[in-house]
Amino acid sequence: MAAECRFDVIVLGAGIMGSCAAHAAASRGATVLLLERFDLLHHLGSSNGLSRTIRDAYPKARYPPMVRLARRLWASAEEDAGYRVLTPSAHLSIGPRSDASLLAAVRNGGGAEVDVDERWPGVFRVPDDGWVTAVSELGGGVLNATKAVAMFQALAVSKGAVVRDNTEVVAIVKKAGENGVRVVTSKGEEFDGAKCIVTVGAWTSKLVKSVAGVDLPIQPLHMLSLYWKIKPGHEHELTVEAGFPTFSSHGDPHVYSTPSLELPGLIKINYDSGPPCDPDRRDWSSGVDDAAARVAGWIEEFMPGHVETADGPVVRQSCMYSMTPDKDFVIDFLGGEFGQDVVIGAGFSGHGFKMGPAVGIILSEMAIDGQARTAAEAGVELQHFRINRFEGNPTGNNNNAH
Ligand SMILES: Cc1cc2nc3c(=O)[nH]c(=O)nc-3n(C[C@H](O)[C@H](O)[C@H](O)COP(=O)(O)OP(=O)(O)OC[C@H]3O[C@@H](n4cnc5c(N)ncnc54)[C@H](O)[C@@H]3O)c2cc1C
Repeated sequence: MAAECRFDVIVLGAGIMGSCAAHAAASRGATVLLLERFDLLHHLGSSNGLSRTIRDAYPKARYPPMVRLARRLWASAEEDAGYRVLTPSAHLSIGPRSDASLLAAVRNGGGAEVDVDERWPGVFRVPDDGWVTAVSELGGGVLNATKAVAMFQALAVSKGAVVRDNTEVVAIVKKAGENGVRVVTSKGEEFDGAKCIVTVGAWTSKLVKSVAGVDLPIQPLHMLSLYWKIKPGHEHELTVEAGFPTFSSHGDPHVYSTPSLELPGLIKINYDSGPPCDPDRRDWSSGVDDAAARVAGWIEEFMPGHVETADGPVVRQSCMYSMTPDKDFVIDFLGGEFGQDVVIGAGFSGHGFKMGPAVGIILSEMAIDGQARTAAEAGVELQHFRINRFEGNPTGNNNNAH
């Protein structure tokens, strides 16, 4: 039976990765279909919310070139759209000097040690001895997450992409003796694509297992964005206009923050972990009290004069991480009978959003050309992101998230 339509590239999942991939492929002149299981801009996946950090300070040297490529692509998309989604800022890294991954992050992010009390008087209370406080100027920034996803979807449509929401893909079928794949939805619709890009976030393991029988070790976690009330009189000091940075506090608990911006009078300070979850059966309450208590404890120790903890976080938003064992991305061809016809972008392990436009162009070039030329030119090393690294023992566990 003939499928309903044929496209050069079919992208599954309209989070930040799928939306960027659809835009990148359509910008190349490819005919593109972007299929999303839920409503566009829903709150059930990983890309929803008001803000995401962008930062260059990464313990693993493989990421800063991808962040730099992404920054160029964020700027270019903003220019095409005619509005901004990225507010630049400094980035502050805090942690014990004995933490090798912190020192590597500072080095890779071009950070320099500063006296935080001179720079942000009275805000932080960091021990004098054995602690590092390092700033990379313009090495941080805040992305308006939902607006950014909507921007890439709108740009993709402006380049001719077809976007369909409330369309769940249940099968990807290799057509015997033919090039390309057939994508089947839960309503029985069929679409043919020369290539298919799979960016289904926390659902990746389930879909890839049912489609290809491949076990990808990608574990969804139930996560929270927590907004805290700034103490009266200090609201302006913690804003991006006043020069307050995005920051990461390494050690236990690992917390991270964006300056007060999207909700005036509040600051987002998150705990970088959460309980495992099944994306189709979420218990929305699990881990909530634990995350709030850990961040409150951190605030009492490190920012006691500026942020209220007595009533807990005043806004909580749920979201999912998709963790790989080494916290590194999966960007690879599916292989097997699908060869290079299906490309997977997944396992973004709580730190992918900032690199969305770079991942999108990489996935689209892999699909269309069989290789990621733009990434190679930008010095981005993709070798580590291959699926076959899970065949041995996964290694490395540096803090990378957010
Ligand atoms: C609380 C929180 C804070 C974070 N902070 C940061 C940060 O500061 N900086 C940063 O860089 N990153 C951060 N991240 C990580 C970042 O948001 C994610 O890495 C990124 O959003 C992953 O995007 P995605 O497109 O892979 O997944 P998603 O956004 O989940 O998109 C996948 C889409 O696929 C759809 N889908 C699933 N199955 C199907 C199907 N069968 N058919 C069709 N569609 C399907 C889903 O509905 C979903 O819309 C954070 C994440 C969370 C949860």
